Amino acid sequence: MILTIKKDTDKKRILEFKENIEKKGVKTFDIEGTELTVIGLVGDVSSIDIDDFKAYDFIIDVKRISTPFKKVSRSFHPSDTIVKVKNIFIGNNQPIVIMAGPCAIESKDNIIDIALNIKNAGASMLRGGAYKPRTSPYSFQGLKTEGINYLKQAGEMYDLPIVSEIMSADRIDEFVEHIDLIQVGARNMQNFELLKELGKINKPILLKRGLSNTIEEWLMSAEYILSEGNPNVILCERGIRTFERATRNTLDLSVVPILRKLTHLPIVIDPSHATGHSDLVESMALAAITVGCDGLIIEVHDCPEKALSDGGQCLRYKAFSSMVTKAKQIATVIGRSVK
Ligand code: PEP
Ligand code: MN
Repeated sequence: MILTIKKDTDKKRILEFKENIEKKGVKTFDIEGTELTVIGLVGDVSSIDIDDFKAYDFIIDVKRISTPFKKVSRSFHPSDTIVKVKNIFIGNNQPIVIMAGPCAIESKDNIIDIALNIKNAGASMLRGGAYKPRTSPYSFQGLKTEGINYLKQAGEMYDLPIVSEIMSADRIDEFVEHIDLIQVGARNMQNFELLKELGKINKPILLKRGLSNTIEEWLMSAEYILSEGNPNVILCERGIRTFERATRNTLDLSVVPILRKLTHLPIVIDPSHATGHSDLVESMALAAITVGCDGLIIEVHDCPEKALSDGGQCLRYKAFSSMVTKAKQIATVIGRSVK
């Protein structure tokens, strides 16, 4: 970490500051220039909060040169992590995994019909929300335990591992028992108490990027899970909030090459929530494969106009099937395959 100090700052104040910071277990060194003094902090600076420096009026700039995350960092763990979800391996150039299903589980028959159709189209995992984070308290909130049971039955029927979103720590036992890949939604990306609890279990976690969170904040959230002992984390980009209103969110595909440098964790892309429009999903899914993601998560519904949530972004069976066919072709071009 590099700190820039205001010209003509009293040397005594700098010394006092250095003594304080060294108590936190880091070493300091300074370079005195004609205009400015620069102080370097070396060692484990992960416990230092940059905002605390605002209390010192003589510090005019702070730059981190090492990352605040450790266990998720590629320097800590150079080879790619493979996360195993039942019989499926995700990450490190394994075949690209396509997860698909409705936004919310609506009924037993409906989830079974969707499971059959996504399986026939070539998906290898079934998604569906039972606990839904809705903007309005008056919108459909999900079938909860009943929904989890229907999802499980549908997954077992067609041999599809299941993914569903957890909203609070008090449901962890239920998810550990029934769900194969536990999703942490965008709205809970910084629910640190939930993340810590998920770190104490061994089930794989699909950690979505928060609505307006930076890559560093996202990786710090993953660090919460890993630091408690659960190494099975998959990152999921689902679009971020920008000024643009033509799409529901803005899909940040640059995260794929950026995350590849920073972390060893697998990366999944969600073009459904990222775009919010079914007619944009296919092109963004193919783009995601082109930039090298490890998997896709896609919302699919038999009749999107009747869907109880996110109908506008759900693909019909035919459109989903055609998307998977193209995804397989693109994967071949870049020397990969689709599971
Ligand atoms: C979802 O997957 O249905 C969902 C609510 O996603 P996100 O958390 O990305 O909004
Ligand atoms: Mn949804």
